[in-house]
Amino acid sequence: MTDDAIDNRCPLCGGEITDIRTVGHWRERKELGSGGGFWLAGKCVPCGVDFQKAVSKTRPGGWRMTVAEREWLTEQIAEEEVARLTEKLSRYKVLGAKWAEFLAKKRLADQLWRFNNHTQEDKTGIAIVRNGIPIADFRAFGDL
Ligand SMILES: [Zn+2]
Repeated sequence: MTDDAIDNRCPLCGGEITDIRTVGHWRERKELGSGGGFWLAGKCVPCGVDFQKAVSKTRPGGWRMTVAEREWLTEQIAEEEVARLTEKLSRYKVLGAKWAEFLAKKRLADQLWRFNNHTQEDKTGIAIVRNGIPIADFRAFGDL
């Protein structure tokens, strides 16, 4: 295994993160003593999880999931609630498709939890939780 492969290992399954691409960058800010860098995005296909990482001279950075944090989880959602949400969201074309895509990532043993980050208004929604770790989320404005 090369150093690159080790660096791009999925923290969940130990497999390789693939489909890596640059999704953004930031400029060097000498007055703040911070160097420039860029954002990479990639995914672990077997886990069905998206990752991002920041790369710069001063910050090595590891792969992080771009999902809700475990501390934000508030309550688990029962199957009937999921069915109700699916019916509600299927009335909206774009949102319904996004919801279906989200649910497709859920595996048998995974759970669905509501999450809420009170400090950031847009960060409420529903997360897929695998072995206690949020691996994907569905964000929405307003209550679901
Ligand atoms: Zn994985």
